[in-house]
Amino acid sequence: MRRRAVIIGAGIGGLTAAIRLAHNDYEVTVVESRPAAGGLASGFEIDGLHFDAGPYILLDRPGLDWAFQRLCINPTDYFQLHRISGVYQVDDGSAELISIDDSLETTAEGFDARWPGAGERYRRFINKSIATYQRLQSLQWQSRPGLLDVIRCGAWRDVPFILRSLGSVLNTARLPPPVIQALGIWSHVAGQSANAAPSPLALVTSVMHRIGAYYPTGGIATIAKVLFDVAVKAGVEFRFGTSVQRIGCENRTVTGVKLHTETLPADIVISNAGLATYTTLLDDVGHAALTGRRRRYFDRLSLQSPGICAYLAVRGQTEPPYLRFRLNDEPDGCRLLITPGVIDKSLERDGWHPARLVAPMAQSRADAGGEKGQREFLNRIVESEAWWRETFSDVRVLRTRIPCEWGSHFSLHRNSMNPVMTSRFMLTGRIAHQSPWIRNLYVAGSATHPGQWVSFCAVSGIHAADRVLTDAGIQS
Ligand SMILES: Cc1cc2nc3c(=O)[nH]c(=O)nc-3n(C[C@H](O)[C@H](O)[C@H](O)COP(=O)(O)OP(=O)(O)OC[C@H]3O[C@@H](n4cnc5c(N)ncnc54)[C@H](O)[C@@H]3O)c2cc1C
Repeated sequence: MRRRAVIIGAGIGGLTAAIRLAHNDYEVTVVESRPAAGGLASGFEIDGLHFDAGPYILLDRPGLDWAFQRLCINPTDYFQLHRISGVYQVDDGSAELISIDDSLETTAEGFDARWPGAGERYRRFINKSIATYQRLQSLQWQSRPGLLDVIRCGAWRDVPFILRSLGSVLNTARLPPPVIQALGIWSHVAGQSANAAPSPLALVTSVMHRIGAYYPTGGIATIAKVLFDVAVKAGVEFRFGTSVQRIGCENRTVTGVKLHTETLPADIVISNAGLATYTTLLDDVGHAALTGRRRRYFDRLSLQSPGICAYLAVRGQTEPPYLRFRLNDEPDGCRLLITPGVIDKSLERDGWHPARLVAPMAQSRADAGGEKGQREFLNRIVESEAWWRETFSDVRVLRTRIPCEWGSHFSLHRNSMNPVMTSRFMLTGRIAHQSPWIRNLYVAGSATHPGQWVSFCAVSGIHAADRVLTDAGIQS
């Protein structure tokens, strides 16, 4: 008899896990609260303009390729990936605009023109980083890399690097402070200090130069659409608009999931619901299987808020860069203007282009301010900050999202994107793909990885499914 798997959530992690199991003869049902697949990586339309809900850039193409290959998907059969050339610019309000181009040479020459010698130091930093990236890369494609794996791929040399924070790695590059700030921008936009962020974020710019940063035709949501179509073809059943209320357990073993009006029995459950898997979804029997210490650990993990977002229709300038970051000295003082029209001209409708304004909001500030404080923060940025409007001849704000709305629209654990990517979380361990406490329970998605990227979530779904297959003796 075919084994039954229920997957909670059709985010990227849930979708890749579903396909992998269906390809291995599992009978798979995905239960999803929303009316469609994709989770945070889904898209929507307003006034004929397409928007990605959350993600805007693909920074780890090898990770996505790895996951697609494991699912026997050739991405080029479905979409074209545009390599982004003028990737980003950082403006800290001074005269020092920093531009990071796809080309290492263009970027280094820009630094040299302003700070003679900085270009060469930048080239050296990038070359050293890419070597580290190549050694560490294969570890990402293992569920629980051990010491032997680290030795085998040569990453033992990088242990001191891994133990450091992003801030400490960037400071060794001896680059001008505005350049260091621009290289650490991925921590700023997550509302995090470079000293709390994990060192692998220092590798992003080198990956951008060597491998590229990408945007798929039709937006990042195309990735979820492809995964959904492949899952349907593989025989996966989807139950949309249905929430899992509880994961049923007996004798520390999963029995299925409870919905509002029925129970779905299952041999295995993969949860794409992140920390909520352990904090709210386990039934009383499952919950009792966790020690008090373990529950406190989940409760204490720092969370990452999705921040605020305004989806815009804009007229006028769609020149590179694709991403414009603006920094100020306030807490959560990073803003980002995203203009996909720079890359994909087909997104234009009657002279209007989609654009997006986002800003981080620390989880503690979002919690303390509640809906009112979150709305005030968003309104202040949208209504009072002039810099982002100056780029366009006309702007319409079509929709906004504050953290509590992200939470209710995407069933997010405490309105967060799950544990924030800190260097400490990276070292103490991600949420395991296979539950150490409940048999036949597995977890896929951003909670299982210290980074919150689409590609990591895709990889995580493969890992969770592979653990299932290994446990069932289907693969070693
Ligand atoms: C503003 C923003 C910007 C981002 N930018 C980028 C970027 O540029 N590049 C990048 O790579 N990544 C980016 N990300 C991160 C990326 O979008 C996420 O890491 C990724 O999409 C998360 O996938 P996931 O598999 O963890 O699942 P999620 O997207 O969290 O999906 C989980 C699904 O499970 C469903 N669900 C939860 N609980 C239940 C339940 N009880 N019953 C039924 N269904 C349930 C939810 O409705 C949801 O559909 C961004 C995210 C945000 C919010």
